[in-house]
This record gives sequence, structure tokens and C-alpha cells, in this order.
Amino acid sequence: MKKVAIIGGGITGLAAAFELQEKGIECTVFEASGRVGGCISTLQKDDYLVECGPNSILETHPDIGKLIIRLGIEGNKVAANLTAQKRFIVRDGKPVALPTSPSAFLTSEVFSTKAKLRLLKEPFIKPLVDKQESLADFVQRRVGKEILDYAINPFVSGVYAGDPKKLSTAHAFPKLFALEKKYGSLIKGAMKGAKERKKRAEKNVHEARMYTFDDGMEVLPLRLAEKLSYRVHLNTPVESIQMMDEGIWMVNREEFTNVILAIPGHKMPELNTPFDLDLFDEIEYPAVTSLSLGVDLNSILHSLDGFGMLIPEVENKFSLGALFPSSIFPERAPGGMALLTVFVGGARAPERALMDKDEMLVKVLDDLHELLGINGGPEFVHTTVWPKAIPQYNVGYERFLNHMKDIETNYKGIHFAGHYRDGISVSNSILSGLRVAELISNHKDTKDSKS
Ligand SMILES: Cc1cc2nc3c(=O)[nH]c(=O)nc-3n(C[C@H](O)[C@H](O)[C@H](O)COP(=O)(O)OP(=O)(O)OC[C@H]3O[C@@H](n4cnc5c(N)ncnc54)[C@H](O)[C@@H]3O)c2cc1C
Repeated sequence: MKKVAIIGGGITGLAAAFELQEKGIECTVFEASGRVGGCISTLQKDDYLVECGPNSILETHPDIGKLIIRLGIEGNKVAANLTAQKRFIVRDGKPVALPTSPSAFLTSEVFSTKAKLRLLKEPFIKPLVDKQESLADFVQRRVGKEILDYAINPFVSGVYAGDPKKLSTAHAFPKLFALEKKYGSLIKGAMKGAKERKKRAEKNVHEARMYTFDDGMEVLPLRLAEKLSYRVHLNTPVESIQMMDEGIWMVNREEFTNVILAIPGHKMPELNTPFDLDLFDEIEYPAVTSLSLGVDLNSILHSLDGFGMLIPEVENKFSLGALFPSSIFPERAPGGMALLTVFVGGARAPERALMDKDEMLVKVLDDLHELLGINGGPEFVHTTVWPKAIPQYNVGYERFLNHMKDIETNYKGIHFAGHYRDGISVSNSILSGLRVAELISNHKDTKDSKS
């Protein structure tokens, strides 16, 4: 009989546990903290609904939607407003809307004529399939430096809080890498790929539906935990995984046939195990701080009619960018007020995320005054520091992935799943959890097949 220990009650561990439970497999989730959800954390305070971690989920795969239906929270979903499709990029000190169609691209102020002409050359540039190429080198080679500086650099800081000079195209943006490999060009590939995705009923991140839940993102882990009930053990950190016999593991004084490590990569070296987890300490997890600010709408010159504003590194500002949650979703702020979430730090300047909070706020307000015309202080401030926020899939990341595979091959019953393996987003983490549960349930072990 299979019996699975899941270490970590973030969205990966909970999704894995739910899938195992649905398949009739006994499982226990061990969560170190007093709450489920890990990075997913919603705060309701003073009539504001603040996301301390992820702000929304993108439904990139049909299994995400199916899970939400199975959990019975389809009715709690809140779709992003249409205005959220508009995204601002700071160019020469002011936010400019990013073009959303090829015709808008041609007239957009974000890019110069030179950059636009450079992009048109892309289909004629010879492919170079190099797994060790950084995203910056890849983008500069295919579409030029201006698109790297004004589109990719801010986009990457919005998704990974990362640095394109360090991130690996093959690992951090595998779909982009595959486009060049398969079609020889990003533009040709984007056009053909859209047709193929349609056939597979998959969506790319730009077409996927973005949503949250009525009481915020935490609805999802809380509902999973409710369904799992006594199987979730809070305030129960795992310190060691011991091998008792071939395929039998001891976790917190209980025996299991399988163990899923669904904790962040940087936490792995703390575990006492017969296999070496020290390597995972080398995964870069830069610090990020998010500041949620409630501001009187009358004191903001910008209309905040979009998803948010990203700030390219070349613009030399303190902040990475800001989301406009009260424009994206309803009821995030009391009447007459706007809620903004500003991000600081990341791979670009991790030390900024750890500086004194009052000093940080002054610098953030300077940026907001200059870029969005915000005058006067916020009436509401909530700061969340993430000392180790998001794993960076930097060039050379395959050594971590290979190490996971080696351990899984050599130590039967040990599995790795989560944001450090299958993609960093909430949807990637859910799919990672579902995938590992499917793998365990499909695996016929010798004892099972004899009985
Ligand atoms: C500031 C921020 C903003 C983000 N924004 C977005 C967004 O808008 N959209 C999006 O899709 N993604 C976003 N992400 C990424 C996404 O939230 C995460 O990648 C995802 O939630 C990771 O889930 P996980 O379960 O793999 O890991 P985690 O959420 O880190 O969960 C791991 C769990 O393991 C527990 N744990 C650790 N050690 C032990 C131990 N020894 N024993 C037991 N338990 C242990 C931890 O307490 C934690 O609960 C954001 C992340 C951050 C930090």
C-alpha cells in the first residue's frame, strides 16, 4: 500500500495531496508554519484586500480550471477587468502603454523606429540553439538591445524579479527557446504556435484568463486544506527523512513509501537526509519587498487604467514597478481610494528589499510622485518582506534539475515538486503538484503488482 508524506503545505504540496486523496492514496502534508499557502497570502485590513504574495492566477492549462471546479470554488472566481489588459512601461520618465497588437506596435511611443525595423529583421536571423545562452544575449541577438531594455528587462523583473543577463532562456523561458529551435524564428513560431495551441486547447500566458477569488488568492489553498482536513499537519516542520528499508522512509516518526519535497529549494539543505541536498543552497533566491499602499484617488494624476507599470533598469528608478490591484479587481480598496502594490529589490538590487522600511517608503513615494503624479502620503501601508522570494532559473540551472533526477533514480520513493522545478508561477506549481501525484499513483511497485 502506498503512503505518501508531503513536505510543505504551499500550493504545490496541497495540489499533490488533493490529487492523491482523490485517487484513494493515503497521504499526510507536513507544514512548518501555522498556515497553509506558503507564498500565497491574503490580508484583509481596514477595508483593503491586500495580496502579500501572488496577486492573481493565469489559467494556462485546462487542469487548473478543472481543479477549481473539483474544489467547488468556481463561483468564487473573480475575473480581471478588461482594463487590466493595458500595461504601462516607463520610457524617458513617463509611463507609456505597451502596444497590444502588431498595428499598435508600429505607432507605439515605447519603441523607436530603429527598434521597430530591427524587429522586422527577426525572421531572417539564423537560429543558434545554445542551452547556455542568457535571456539578455538571446533577445539582443534576435530582436536587438532596445527591445531587451524596454520590453524584456521590465517583463522579467515583473515575473521573476530577475535579471535577464543571468536567467537562462532554455530554463526560464522554455517556450521562447523552443520557438527558435522548432521554427528558427520567434515571429514565425508565435504565429504557427498559436494555431497548434488552439488544437491542444492550451493557452499561452497572453491569452490565458487571469483571475483571483472573492476573498483573495488564499481562497485556493484554504479550500484545498479544508478538503484535505486532518491530513494537513500545521506547525509540523520536517527536520529529517530517514531510510528504514528499500522504499520505506521515516518522516516525523511515521513510515511512508513515498516522500514529496514541496519546500523551497533554499530550505532543502536544512533537512537531514541520506542524499545530499546542499547543492540547492546555490539556487539564487533574491529578496523582494512588496508595499501595498492605499492612496486617495483625488491625489493621483494618472488614471491607473491598467494592470500596472513596469520600470526598465535603464530608467534608473528605485522601484521595480507597481501593480494597480484596485483597477484589476473590484473591492480591493474602500470607496474613493486606490490600492497600489509596489515591488522593490529582486535580482536587480536585492539589498534594497532589506533596507529600513521608512527609508524604503520615502524612496518609493518619490518614484510614484514622479511617474504617476501621486501627491501626498498614503493613508494605508502594508509591507511584506520576502528575504528569499522567487528562484532564479539562471544559466546552468540544469545542474539542479539533474541532481533532482539523480536522487529520484537512486532513492526509490523520493520526489521533487514545486516552483524550483517546473516553473515559478502559481499555475506551474499546481501542475507540478498534480504531475507528481499522477506519477506516484501510476507507478506500479513490485509489492503492489504481486498482491
Ligand atoms: C512576492 C511574490 C509575488 C508573486 N506573484 C505571483 C503572481 O502574481 N502570479 C503567480 O503565478 N506567481 C507569483 N508568485 C510565485 C508563486 O507564488 C510561487 O512560486 C508559488 O506560490 C510557490 O508555491 P510552492 O508550494 O511551490 O512553494 P511555497 O509557497 O514556498 O510553499 C512551501 C511551503 O513549505 C513550507 N516549508 C518549508 N520548509 C519546511 C519544512 N522543513 N517542513 C515542512 N514545511 C516546510 C513553507 O512554510 C511553505 O508553506 C509570486 C511569489 C512571490 C514571493
